[in-house]
Amino acid sequence: MKDIFGKDLHDLLNKKLFLFDMDGTIYEDSHVYQGTLELLDYIDTRGGKYMFITNNSSSSVKDYIGKLEQLGISTDDGHFLTASQATILYLQQNYPNKKVYALGTQSFLGELQRSGIMLTSHDQAELLLVGFDKELTYEKWANACQLLFTKKVPFIATNPDLSCPTSFGFIPDCGSICQILENITNQKATYIGKPKDTMVKLALQNSGFTAEDTLVIGDRLYTDIACGNNAGVSTLCVLTGEANIASIQESDIKPTYTLTSVLELYKTLKEEP
Ligand SMILES: [Mg+2]
Repeated sequence: MKDIFGKDLHDLLNKKLFLFDMDGTIYEDSHVYQGTLELLDYIDTRGGKYMFITNNSSSSVKDYIGKLEQLGISTDDGHFLTASQATILYLQQNYPNKKVYALGTQSFLGELQRSGIMLTSHDQAELLLVGFDKELTYEKWANACQLLFTKKVPFIATNPDLSCPTSFGFIPDCGSICQILENITNQKATYIGKPKDTMVKLALQNSGFTAEDTLVIGDRLYTDIACGNNAGVSTLCVLTGEANIASIQESDIKPTYTLTSVLELYKTLKEEP
């Protein structure tokens, strides 16, 4: 049992906690990748646990439960850790009671409000928070500039991803939205989601598994794989999304293992001697 670069895969059989990225790893838009359902079932059957850790802050956990249900994957709140949740925890710990102007979807804003984050207009705000705002307008962008120029408030962002995969290619994600603000205001965002290890640490805490038990599976080197590496757990890069063999060879960020897809991971686990 070897991976694409000839690495022995036997240690994968000892993994019990599987932390999956979603976009580009288990699905793309509304198309679930082959082997995903079988793999998740198999992890359950072996007494393991799977969770989804996502930098995508355009959808809430409730949205994700609905989306996965449509794809045939039955989940509850306990199966998710999102960059939105990690960001909420970060704000509560570092900026309690600060009034926030947020660029994000209605779903994201709702999640912030339910967690007790105080949202306000840009002229009242003490902090700028940027998510993956699929409902972004030029007005919101201009408001964010005004806030950064006039008050030099903390500039926090849910995730550094520059792009999000779609069926036709990619669309701009939070990192690209922030880069424009950074270019114009010369202020740098603090990014909370992957590659920071917060979500993996929360997953270990919530599940009771150890770092040795854990595997992070993702398609992007500078977020998914770097996050697992930063958290000190094994990582598996799949080639169904952004990363390819050449980019892995060229990057300083190396996954522990590389397989073409989650289907190959399923086959590897299933074919254990
Ligand atoms: Mg991905």
